[in-house]
Amino acid sequence: MHITGQCHCGAIRFTADADPAKVFACHCADCQVISGGPFRAVVAIPADQVELQGSPKQYVKVAASGNRRVQAFCGDCGTQLFATEADVPKTLNIRLGCVNERAQLKPTVQVWQDSAMPWLPELAGVPAHSRGRDSPLV
Ligand SMILES: [Zn+2]
Ligand SMILES: [Zn+2]
Repeated sequence: MHITGQCHCGAIRFTADADPAKVFACHCADCQVISGGPFRAVVAIPADQVELQGSPKQYVKVAASGNRRVQAFCGDCGTQLFATEADVPKTLNIRLGCVNERAQLKPTVQVWQDSAMPWLPELAGVPAHSRGRDSPLV
């Protein structure tokens, strides 16, 4: 599937060929903190199949195992773009949030389920408004 995407301010854009089977959700604590959300969903794409315009800033995350991962984001608007190997990038895990076709890219697997928010399965039963204006909490 051909995908396109960009950060919120538009300074960084990309196109890529994505395999819809390579979409996963990660519930690890690092993904929760770095994404600012309850979990992170990504599509894994070989680095040579991604065409990137612009220069993301990079934060290198060091795991307890010593594994180093580049977290790439827009230095202007802060949008999370992708993560990849710190030394020689082989695979870009592109954040679904900045992919225009994200609604068609449903995760096929979830990892780090042990740290998943316990309320995620209950969201389907929470009152839902079609737009934010109707929110009773703002
Ligand atoms: Zn930006
Ligand atoms: Zn994670």
